[in-house]
Amino acid sequence: ATKSLQQASARSKSRNLFNRAKAVFPGGTTRATVERNPFPIYVERGEGAHLVDVDGNRFLDLNNNFTTLIHGHGFAPVSEAVVGLLRSGTCFANPTEHEIGLAELLTARIPAMERVRFVNSGTEAVMFAIKAARAFTGRHAIARIEGAYHGAYDWAEAGQGIAPGKNGWDLAPVATPAYRGAPASVAEEVHLLRFNDVDGLERCLGAVSDRLACVLIDPMPSRAGLIHPEPAFIEALSVTTRKYGMLILADEVLNLRQGYTGASARYGLTPDLITAGKIIGGGFPIGAIGGREEVMRVFGTDEAKPSLPQGGTFSANPVSMVAGRAAMEAMTQAAFDRLEQMGDRLREGLRASVASHDAAFSVTGAASLFRIHPKRLAPTEFRDAYLSTAEAELMRRMSTHFLEMGVLLPYGAAASLSTAMDDSDIELVLRAFDQFLATEAQ
Ligand code: PLP
Repeated sequence: ATKSLQQASARSKSRNLFNRAKAVFPGGTTRATVERNPFPIYVERGEGAHLVDVDGNRFLDLNNNFTTLIHGHGFAPVSEAVVGLLRSGTCFANPTEHEIGLAELLTARIPAMERVRFVNSGTEAVMFAIKAARAFTGRHAIARIEGAYHGAYDWAEAGQGIAPGKNGWDLAPVATPAYRGAPASVAEEVHLLRFNDVDGLERCLGAVSDRLACVLIDPMPSRAGLIHPEPAFIEALSVTTRKYGMLILADEVLNLRQGYTGASARYGLTPDLITAGKIIGGGFPIGAIGGREEVMRVFGTDEAKPSLPQGGTFSANPVSMVAGRAAMEAMTQAAFDRLEQMGDRLREGLRASVASHDAAFSVTGAASLFRIHPKRLAPTEFRDAYLSTAEAELMRRMSTHFLEMGVLLPYGAAASLSTAMDDSDIELVLRAFDQFLATEAQ
């Protein structure tokens, strides 16, 4: 962006498109969680690490379609695989070899994924994984982490939009239905845990021990702060769930990005069920439910009918399968290592800026993921990461500053790097942040 985005002419086409969109979309757009400032940036095209908007402004894209595009935009191996496929038809009720290819790649890499089924979104994957835990255990309730995001299945989302009450936070969190009109019974079947709280975990699971099918956990919950799991918490989770016969359901829809074998393997968690999505579709819609062979038998065996039906008109559609395979094949161990090194440099550089300005900011994340918090101490649970109105305003100012510097930085969720980026991109992000802290300090 060479001219200021504050000038009316700099984003006039986006403004006009938003005005048109308001007549057809309640809320103005289906891309609901994308920032409006005061209207969204409409994209014309993506080019590697960059987005170009309809007004011709160019941005380094740290959103990567909500962390999905691990290779950035228009990655040639994915485009070629998809274009090659299009000529021979895009979806069939019958299976194709393409689904076996992606399944073999994933089950070979991810220890917890002995068997797998494909769907079209992370929401669906989490929904079917919860159903699988129920079908396997014969129990209906679940426990999940306060403030974490797991998609829009009613039971997975109860407890995600939680906020402090008039008198601050309740000591033990209580799940509430996620939207007006949601059946209260949903919340009765969802128990909330505070991330990294060992005592609370043992207390909660003990109290409802015979009713819980599974504990749903993202090893580094992004919306809840992109927070490191403490080894003692992972250990307590493993011991306590085994003791009461509950399953561990690791939601790696986002955090499979953390390494060649995924996030659970990285943090010493051994889940019974695991969900994936985002990067494994190469930029096309996807979700995957995986798990131990014994648990996954609820979806059927060669001989027996399933105790849990799972279909879907577009499940395992060949386009997502070949795109995902091309993207994942390019994610070799060396590619993950390079991303991790860039991520480490970025997080260290951001922290060095904070220290040099003695600013009340902190940085969390791992591998190719990061989050900047307007908090002096790095959060260890959702409550620490929760933004007050003034803090949310500060983060909006920060993201506006980044846009002016040609960087699209999501906040309140994970920002991500892609293999299309290089050191000069990291330098730009560091410069943008340092300048922001310098202006804020004045
Ligand atoms: N689970 C986690 C951890 C996620 O981050 C997301 C999406 O951001 C989902 C589930 C839902 O995935 P989708 O948006 O593909 O439905």
